[in-house]
Amino acid sequence: MSKLRFKVVGEAFDRKAVKVNIPEKRPDEYYGEFVFNRKAMYQYLPKATFEGLVHAIDHRQPLSRELADSVAEGMRRWAIDKGARHYTHWFHPLTDGTAEKHDAFIDHDGKGGVVEEFTGKLLVQQEPDASSFPNGGIRNTFEARGYSAWDISSPAFILDKTLCIPTIFISYTGESLDYKTPLLRALNAVDKAGTAVARFFDPKVNHVISYLGWEQEYFLVDEGLYAARPDLVMTGRTLMGHESAKNQQLEDHYFGAIPSRVESFMLDLEIECHKLGIPAKTRHNEVAPNQFELAPIFEETNLANDHNLLLMSVMAEVARRHNFRVLLHEKPFAGVNGSGKHNNWSLGTDTGVLLFAPGKTAEDNLQFITFVVNVMAAVNKYNGLLKASISSATNAHRLGANEAPPAIISIFTGKQLASILEALENSNVAELESLSGKMGKNVGIYQIPEIMIDNTDRNRTSPFAFTGNRFEFRAVGSSANCASAMLVLNAAVADQLNDFASKVNTRVEKGEALRQAILEEVKSLIIESKAIHFDGNGYSDEWKEEAARRGLDCETSVPKIFDSYLSAASIEMFERTGVLNRVELEARNEVKWEMYTKKIQIEARVLGDLAINHIIPVATRYQSFLVDNLVKIKSLFDESKSAKIAQQDLQTIETIAEHMSIIKEEVEKMVSARKEANALRCEREKAIAYHDNVIPAMENIRYHIDKLELMVDNEMWPLPKYRELLFIR
Ligand code: ADP
Ligand code: MG
Repeated sequence: MSKLRFKVVGEAFDRKAVKVNIPEKRPDEYYGEFVFNRKAMYQYLPKATFEGLVHAIDHRQPLSRELADSVAEGMRRWAIDKGARHYTHWFHPLTDGTAEKHDAFIDHDGKGGVVEEFTGKLLVQQEPDASSFPNGGIRNTFEARGYSAWDISSPAFILDKTLCIPTIFISYTGESLDYKTPLLRALNAVDKAGTAVARFFDPKVNHVISYLGWEQEYFLVDEGLYAARPDLVMTGRTLMGHESAKNQQLEDHYFGAIPSRVESFMLDLEIECHKLGIPAKTRHNEVAPNQFELAPIFEETNLANDHNLLLMSVMAEVARRHNFRVLLHEKPFAGVNGSGKHNNWSLGTDTGVLLFAPGKTAEDNLQFITFVVNVMAAVNKYNGLLKASISSATNAHRLGANEAPPAIISIFTGKQLASILEALENSNVAELESLSGKMGKNVGIYQIPEIMIDNTDRNRTSPFAFTGNRFEFRAVGSSANCASAMLVLNAAVADQLNDFASKVNTRVEKGEALRQAILEEVKSLIIESKAIHFDGNGYSDEWKEEAARRGLDCETSVPKIFDSYLSAASIEMFERTGVLNRVELEARNEVKWEMYTKKIQIEARVLGDLAINHIIPVATRYQSFLVDNLVKIKSLFDESKSAKIAQQDLQTIETIAEHMSIIKEEVEKMVSARKEANALRCEREKAIAYHDNVIPAMENIRYHIDKLELMVDNEMWPLPKYRELLFIR
């Protein structure tokens, strides 16, 4: 190593120094150690309380006040035994990430001392000041206070010696100010609607459960290098940086051997996850250098989402212990792949059937097709809304680039499912019914090949792919709260299933046989939602044209994509399912536009600062060094010789000057574009102005800085380069 201008903190160069410490205990000995799970409940709660709480959780019922007091008492004893001294309501405001306000378990004892205390009231409900969190103006129209209320379906846990109680966060007038509230409402809606449809096939079904298995992608960067990049520190991504000569072209990173320093981090992280009851299972290198992935075993969606949010904060902490920083930004580095968070999603019944998995009998397979086709219809109707659910200032860098799904939502089914859909579409249902006799024997449609379950033809270019027994929503961003996508998807599917059930029921009331009614409706849904089905290459330009012809939403400007939340169809769907009302939707969009603007604004400020205070001075210094050199050359050689020698240096000096002058001009343009945008009062207009006028200037500035990076003396360059950030580990 010739030189290292930036101090690498980790033991990057002495790989042998990094030992992967395999813990002495086995996972089953510490799994769930910091979770107030049923085992802990049983141990710490009086029998009647335990039974009452379990009943409330299983039957989705509220807790009585007496029961809450008794639960709080047991929970406090458990938490204190585990070393906790504080408690907090842990909730998901409309920012990324989670919020918590800690209180100690103490109260005055009336004798000048304190007693440890935690009551049912404190467990069940609190009143954080809603005005400090994004609320899109709800607090102006209604009440400043908000309150958080315990979500008993997700167990309390201990993080950093603090008892965390998962809660919803709503305004005093009942509007949601978080992600969890509408997610729970959507899960409830899909439960009801799904159950009605599942009962066509099996009257014993009482609940339909939504499952989520997320795959979290992330980058690791050495702490010392990270600290020397103000853009990474302030915005989570590099705002400049020329591609490294080697990046991912050799495709040698994906599934490659995990470097030992990283492996040591991963193992530590997994142990922390397991202690918190997060069933982390899979880990591997991703496509880009220094990019990795962690995936758990799938869980019920609300719990899975809590676990993902928890993971993101635990990850950041564990990374610091290993002198790494974890980057969850969707596109920390230009030119190499960005990070997503694939959301593997399915529905299942409380009788244990996965509804997107083909079954063994004809009846099972009709149920499978019914649910799959309803999902396709919902995604088709709300494709613009689903895109809005995954859109953000940060994810915009990833979508549409040739590495991630395009900014168009479509469904990949694979050959086998496609041929079944086609056969159904072209069949005469009445004939099909009479032909099948005992259903299934004669008609291929019902005999879905068993190989479908381990479906291997997997189209990586699709944003929403059927993968054998689930759908994989791949467009979700790595830093996102999955609830944003999950609440829209589950609500849209719930609404579609309701519609389906009522149409089938109407047919049956008119005397049609149930099976025939289902088949007729399935067939018409297949025809109606053909536009969403696309098995080709999602990265191609032809697809963009084709998608536009099909009438799919092709908008690429994020602030305009958000409009989908407020279309008449979306508002009606959300209100019909009881997931969000118009007031909430309008308020949430205000927050989305505001967040978009703020993120770009921060990036633009950091970029301006780096350009003017870091890059221009260094380029100037190098330029004047070249000028000095020229003068010296002239004094040494005669005119014709020195002109020849100096030619290239002159050229370089001129090019540097050109880049610098464009950078200065563009920074000025960017600043005035910001000023103009800031003067706009409407949040939507402001976000659009940032998108249309500020971002192009930023891109120009970056382009010219990256050119300078290639010319200026490496010793002088003030920022760690991509080759350092991406390959030192
Ligand atoms: P790949 O990278 O090949 O897509 P992974 O093994 O990394 O697959 O991740 C698959 C994820 O899907 C895991 O989190 C897994 O638990 C989850 N999963 C598997 N089956 C289902 C299902 N029926 N519903 C929801 N998630 C599922
Ligand atoms: Mg996957």
